[in-house]
Amino acid sequence: MITRNTRQKVAIREAFEEAGRPLSTGEVLDLAQSKVEKLGIATVYRNVKSLVDEGWLATVELPGETSRYEIAGKDHHHHFQCESCSRVFELHGCLPGLDRLAETGYSVRRHELVLYGSCPECNGNRPAR
Ligand SMILES: [Zn+2]
Ligand SMILES: [Zn+2]
Repeated sequence: MITRNTRQKVAIREAFEEAGRPLSTGEVLDLAQSKVEKLGIATVYRNVKSLVDEGWLATVELPGETSRYEIAGKDHHHHFQCESCSRVFELHGCLPGLDRLAETGYSVRRHELVLYGSCPECNGNRPAR
């Protein structure tokens, strides 16, 4: 039997799969509420938390921003934030040699890197899809 709770969670997972980029809970609400009746922000928040607990979603923390979430298990990658529309996009891969920025005596264990600018839509180009 498919309960309303199941439908809500499916709609939330689909929002992530269709968007293909990290989403805030507010964006998830916008994208998923057309698919499920009476979806509210509290329900989105509860389901996102449960998907994080299950390991299906990972939290994306950007400086000074509300948390975004993305589908977990991706290879090492970074993010791009559009300064016009505030949306966050996934960048693929990384650059070799970043560790060399640290001088002798420092051991680098991890790094965070965020690129900022404007996205294709805000630049007036439709993304090629
Ligand atoms: Zn934009
Ligand atoms: Zn990297």
